Order: sequence, then C-alpha cells, then structure tokens
Amino acid sequence: MDRAEIALMAIAFISCTLLILGIALIVMYVERKKAYQQAKRNFNQYRSLFAYNPDIVLQLDRTGMIIEANLAYEKITGWSQNLKKSIIDFLPAHDAKIVENHLAAVSQGEVRHYETVLIGEGSRHIHVQVSNVPIMLEKEITGIYWIASDITERKKAEETIQHMAYHDELTGIPNPRMFQKRLEEALAEAKEKQTELAIFFIDLDRFTMINDRFGHIFGDRVIKVLSKRLQACLAEGELIARLGGDEFAFLLPTVTDHSQISAFSEKVLKQFEQALIVDEMEFHLTPTMGIAVFPQDGEDVESLTKHADKAMFRAKELGNERVQFFNREMEDDGFQQFQLENALRKALEHKELVNYYQPKVDIHTNQIVGMEALIRWIKPDGTMVSPADFIPVAEETGLILPIGKHVLREACMQNKKWHDEGKPPLIVSVNISYVQFRQPDFLDTIREVLEESKLPPQYLELEITEGIAMYDIPSVIQTLRELQQLGIKISIDDFGTGYSSLAYLSQFPIQALKIDKTFIQGAENNPTNQAIILAIMAMAKSLGINIIAEGVEESKQLSFLREHGCHVVQGYYFSPPISPQKFEDFLATFLAGYHR
Ligand code: C2E
Ligand code: MG
Ligand code: MG
Repeated sequence: MDRAEIALMAIAFISCTLLILGIALIVMYVERKKAYQQAKRNFNQYRSLFAYNPDIVLQLDRTGMIIEANLAYEKITGWSQNLKKSIIDFLPAHDAKIVENHLAAVSQGEVRHYETVLIGEGSRHIHVQVSNVPIMLEKEITGIYWIASDITERKKAEETIQHMAYHDELTGIPNPRMFQKRLEEALAEAKEKQTELAIFFIDLDRFTMINDRFGHIFGDRVIKVLSKRLQACLAEGELIARLGGDEFAFLLPTVTDHSQISAFSEKVLKQFEQALIVDEMEFHLTPTMGIAVFPQDGEDVESLTKHADKAMFRAKELGNERVQFFNREMEDDGFQQFQLENALRKALEHKELVNYYQPKVDIHTNQIVGMEALIRWIKPDGTMVSPADFIPVAEETGLILPIGKHVLREACMQNKKWHDEGKPPLIVSVNISYVQFRQPDFLDTIREVLEESKLPPQYLELEITEGIAMYDIPSVIQTLRELQQLGIKISIDDFGTGYSSLAYLSQFPIQALKIDKTFIQGAENNPTNQAIILAIMAMAKSLGINIIAEGVEESKQLSFLREHGCHVVQGYYFSPPISPQKFEDFLATFLAGYHR
C-alpha cells in the first residue's frame, strides 16, 4: 500500500469517526432535551399536583417546619400559605406528641398514616386523615411530605351516629346502651380498686295516665323537663340514663360510704318536690326508686340491673315506699306474688278480710259525721296485714274486684245496721280503686249493693284517687254524674300526692277533697306543707268543695286546720281505724261528750 492509499484510509477513518461522534452527539443532545422536557413535565405535573391538590400538601423539613404549603392548606385552615411555622404549632396539645413521634419515624424513612386535628383560624378544629412520606433527594431524606385530607364532615357524621347510638333521642341523655357500657367500665374499675358502686332505677308513678290523658307529645315534654331537672343531681363521674318510657337510671361509680347512697336518693327525691310546669300546667310527679349495690347485690351488669329493677318493683308493690334497696328475699319475687295472690283468694273465701272504721269529725261542731271503711286482713293466728301490702297485688291481679265489692257490701250493711239501731245517721266512706271504677258494670255493682243493703245512697261516700281523673275524662264525668244522681257523695282521696292539674276538678261533681296525710303531718312547722294546704283550701273554697284532712295526730295540727277553714278531720288524734265493735264503743263515749 502506497502512502497515498494510507492517507486516504486515514481520512476515511477519521471522517467515519467524526460522523459517528457527530451522530452520537446529536443523539445525546436529543436525549438530553427529551430528559429535560420530561423532567420539566414531571416538575410541572408535580407542581400542579401540589398546587391544585384538593388535599392539604405541606413540605416540611425533618423537624416539622413548614417549608411550603399549597392552596388547599390556606383554603381549609384559613392560615396563610406563607406562614412559616412548625406543623406542631397547629395541633392540639394531646396530639402534638403523637405527631412528633410520627415525624421522627418518617424522617428515618418510614411512611405513616394517621388521623389528627388541625387547629384552623379562629380555633376551628379540622379533623384530618394524614399520610406522611419522606422526601428523598439522591438517597438522602431532606424533608417530609405532609398530606392531609379534611374529614371533618365525616367525623361529624360519625359523632352524630355515635351520639345517636348512645343517647336517648328525646332527652339527649345517655340511653341503656351507654348505661350498660359505663356500668361495665365502672364495675371493672371498682373491682380493681375494691370500691363499691351503686345503681338506681327510677320509675315515675302513674305516668301512663299523663300520656293517656294528654297524649304522648305532652308526655314527652314532661319527660324532657324532668330529665333536665334530674341531671342537676349529678356530680362529676356520675351518670344518668333514660332506660325508656318513664324510667331513668343513675350510676354512682364510686361509693366509699353508704351515706353517699342515701344522700343521693334524697337529692333525687328533692327534685320531685317542686311542681313541674309544662305548657303552663303544674304537675307533681312521684318517683319509685330501686337501688342495687356492687358487690353485695351483684357482681356483673346483668345481675345488678336485674336486682335494681326488682327493688324498684317491690317499692311499687309496697306502694308507700319511694326508695327500696335490693335484698336477697326479693329473688323469688314472682313466686312470692303468686303465693300472696293465692293466700288473698283464700282469705276472701275464709272471710279473713274485714272492715275497720275510722271516724271523721266535723272540726267546728266536734260531731262525728262519718267513718271511713278501711280493709284489714286478719289471719287465723291473729296477725294483721296492712292493705298497703296487698291492695297493689289485688289491683294487679284483678282480685280487687271481688274484694272491693266485699268491702262496699260490708260497709253499707254495717252502716244500715247502725242506722237501724238508732245511732246518729253517719256517712260511710269506701275507697274505690281505679280498677273498680273502670269496670263497665261499676255503676251496676253500686246499685246492686245499695239495693241489697237498703242503705239510703246519701249515706254512702266513695273515695277515689286523683289518678282516676286521668282516664277518659268525659266518661269519668259521666260516671260521677250518675253516682251523684243516685245521691252518692264523692271525694278525692290522697289529694296532692298525685298529679295536680287542678283544671279538671271544677268539672267534677265532687263534694270533698281529702288532703293527703303527708301534708298534714309536720304541717305545724313546715311552711311548704302549710302553703300547700292553704292553696288546696283556697281552691276548694272557690269551687265550693269541702276539705277533709287525714292523718291528724296532734292538737297543733288540728288548730292549724281549724284556723284555716278545714271542715272535717280524720286521724289518730281521734282514733285509728278500729273494729266495728270498738267503733260502737267509741261512738258511745264520743256521744257522751268525751271529746267536747
Ligand atoms: P287511705 O284511703 O288514704 O286511708 C288512710 C290511711 O291512713 C289508712 O291506712 C289509715 O289507717 C291511715 N291513717 C289514718 N289516720 C292516720 C294518722 O293519724 N296517722 C297515720 N300515720 N296514718 C293514719 P290503711 O288503713 O293502712 O290504708 C292504706 C291505704 O290502703 C288507704 O289509704 C287506701 O288507699 C287503701 N285501702 C284501704 N282499704 C281499702 C279498700 O277497701 N279498698 C281500696 N281500694 N283501697 C283500700
Ligand atoms: Mg281513703
Ligand atoms: Mg288517703
């Protein structure tokens, strides 16, 4: 190969190399440009993902300082995008520590998801669902992305659902589910700390009558007003719940001394002393309360609640007890009631149910004007059972119908006998249960007994309780009118203890109101009782109704009543209820001027 050829080859080689190099450069340039454009596109995409993201996106440094915030941050929180503070400054104290821990983990390369609350402008609480990811730059963590979506609405909905699940819709106070949950928690704590706890079940007496009489909407209003009042009894940690209808429950989670329990029940009872005012109507509701204490009355939710309920029912049965503690004898309640019912049936057959009589005295003339027939169950061994103990069972089982008729017949026959014997003609009063009064054949029974005994109707008085007035008013008025047409007198017994809407009284053909003995007793030095008595008297006077005071035991009470215009009195001051034989003796002594 000559020189010229070598030179040519060299040129060709160099040219080729240059060409290849040129091509490579061009390719590199194109690639670079592409990469640059890609990066630019990526950056723009990221910017728009950052800027227009509907979620909050914050770029934080590794300590949590906000380096950059997007528009959503400003929109959602109300804070300026340019506020350079630590994210921790926008968290409530109890969340700050937790979030700090998350941030520390993320700055070590972890990813974290959690919920927290951001404090927005004006101290608004914004619930957020947060994701934290590390910002990696060339394998080095330079900061943290803090991405948060606003879940406040969802949280609110959740809270509403939660509230609904655990609260009573009408009153807003806890419901049975909440009561059970809190009782479970309290029991666990009491077991651990070896303390006691108490639960109280409360049922309103005769509340169904309010519903029957005024409708459920009105009844609901009464419950609402009452629940507000009952909440006032609570100290910190204590709980009230509405168990349904007219039943409430209280939880005292820590009882260190039993006097705490009685003090609490007193406090609750006090709430019932003042009249409730609903739609300008005044009510006096009375509660019945059953109490069960951990650990002696039960160690779990089920047995404690069952026993509080039992105690409450026992209090109802007893009728005269507002508050009843559970005791083991109540375990077999159903059986006991069944036994009592059977025994009562037998007592009726075996004529163990007899009438006692308590005189009624005219306060001004000092004459006996009548007597109240009060039933007594005298067992063959001579023990006597108080009607307060068996009348409620008799009412529940319907046995009150034959028993009531028996009392009425005895009373009329006895009175007629005394009339026939030439004793001063007195009026006999007979207590009528609402169960009897509601019977369709009630009037027929009365007529039948009057006919049978031949007692002139003007010598019979029926004592009904306020509760009767809460049934279908027109039919009650109708029955009362027919009784009045027969010539029978009507009085309202135990007045003031039940439901004191007085509006209906003026429509009722009644002759007398009997002020309940609880107002009379201690009236001489109890201004509230005095005020109640005076108010009842003023009202009765304006309606032309007589006033009878029951339970008069002391001469001071008598003077007070006499002074303020009471007409007739009845009570141990003159005589307790006594057998017919003793009543005859009493009458004889009285007539002889003993009491004049
Ligand atoms: P009530 O009709 O209000 O009768 C008055 C009650 O007060 C009677 O109790 C009487 O013994 C008592 N009492 C009278 N004076 C005094 C006093 O000065 N001090 C005190 N602490 N108490 C006095 P009792 O006889 O135990 O009767 C209780 C309730 O049982 C009666 O209350 C009445 O609601 C009911 N009851 C009694 N007999 C009958 C009946 O034949 N039929 C019906 N349906 N219920 C009756
Ligand atoms: Mg009575
Ligand atoms: Mg009474």
